[in-house]
Amino acid sequence: MPGFVTLIHDMDNIESFSDLKVNAWIVRQCESLGVKSPTPIQAKCIPHILNGEDCIGCAKTGSGKTLAFAIPILQKLCEDPYGIFALVLTPTRELAFQIADQFAVIGKTIHLRHCVIVGGMDMMIQGQELARKPHIVVATPGRLADHLESCDTFTLKKIKFLVLDEADRLLGGHFDQQLEIIFGALPKQKQTLLFSATMTDALEKVQEVTGNQVFICESKSDIATVEQLKQFYVLCPVDVKDGYLVETVRTFRSENEKGSIMIFTDTCKNCQLLSMTLNEVGFENVALHSMISQRLRIVALAKFKSNVVKILIATDVASRGLDIPAVELVLNHSIPSVPKDYIHRVGRTARAGRGGTAISLMTPHDIHLIHAIEATINTKLVEYKVDGKEVAKIFTQVSVTKREAEIKLDETDFYERKKINKRKKLILEGKDPDEEEEQLLKKKKKMKKMHKKKRMYSEISIAS
Ligand code: AMP
Repeated sequence: MPGFVTLIHDMDNIESFSDLKVNAWIVRQCESLGVKSPTPIQAKCIPHILNGEDCIGCAKTGSGKTLAFAIPILQKLCEDPYGIFALVLTPTRELAFQIADQFAVIGKTIHLRHCVIVGGMDMMIQGQELARKPHIVVATPGRLADHLESCDTFTLKKIKFLVLDEADRLLGGHFDQQLEIIFGALPKQKQTLLFSATMTDALEKVQEVTGNQVFICESKSDIATVEQLKQFYVLCPVDVKDGYLVETVRTFRSENEKGSIMIFTDTCKNCQLLSMTLNEVGFENVALHSMISQRLRIVALAKFKSNVVKILIATDVASRGLDIPAVELVLNHSIPSVPKDYIHRVGRTARAGRGGTAISLMTPHDIHLIHAIEATINTKLVEYKVDGKEVAKIFTQVSVTKREAEIKLDETDFYERKKINKRKKLILEGKDPDEEEEQLLKKKKKMKKMHKKKRMYSEISIAS
């Protein structure tokens, strides 16, 4: 491919950041955090980024991707400090805060100014922060696009670095409109760095778009999950799944008292219900999903990260990139329909060389999903033994508690908030929510009429 150089050096033996020509102050700062020798992705990417090349980094989740881009950006910033120097885009708010934290810690000695631009927070304050020209802006696409469209007190025209973290998600189509606005506000001359756990078509497309020299770093292993991760399944009937969930948590807890547990489920409603149910049956937990206000999302995550609460129940909003060292178990209450999402979820444990466990509750309907996951990760899941008799003992209590939680949820403004969030999303997409609602109502009326007609005709034909 013209214009591109694909280099994959074997640099796994690099022992220190100094060998990579990282400045002494950064090496010291890293060492003070216990980060002494570079991980493979860092060893491979840092020299190329320092050399001015664009970079696509694909590596297992938890492999130190954030520092692989933060270190060279901070080093370059130090040579020519100004704001806004780098823009980091990431798909979720929690990841934005996490990335900003890593920049802040390493950049402390150079008085780094950074800001986080995400939804759910005060736009006025964010506008003021942007106007103060921070060195680093970490943002989710929606809110940054809002700022670009609504105010001219800052410019991204001089940025030296654009980072797309979790690039496969960002480029997967969901953020296209917002990215168009953002990319339109960026200079042509810049270094683009893409990081992702999985290489997809979208990522490959980027190679065609950028004209710069690109260094591509792919993990050598074709197993997308780390070797230290033990992966299991629990076969359970659909109707008894919640009982199995509780019993699996109890069984795991009896063997591992201290570790934290992340439970993933499919929808915000399920997440909220499971959280309420587990709290009632004695497993204190916090919930994290997109129907919770950003303030409460931050509180929930802080409680979990600091080990105050040891169980986090989440939707896939928490599946990517979150770095919580104490997570010992990832428990899939629902099996993700795409194997890639499984890889992201289980990547919350067994991070940075530590061990970890993943258990997936598998109903007979999910067997094909498990097969697809096994084929992707090139590993067979092993059965995790949960005592069916114990499940039978708690089944009634769990299902009654869940039904009560459902009634409680009906009495709150949960569904009202869902409506509000939907309206906000439509506004972000540049649509008029009232108009959309009217169109939807019209569509529903039309469908009703059609069904009525159909019913009438079938009754007539039966009668005749
Ligand atoms: P990431 O993949 O960027 O989310 O990083 C996962 C975790 O590994 C974070 O807690 C980092 O602080 C940690 N980490 C990153 N680089 C290193 C390193 N070279 N040595 C030890 N820990 C690291």
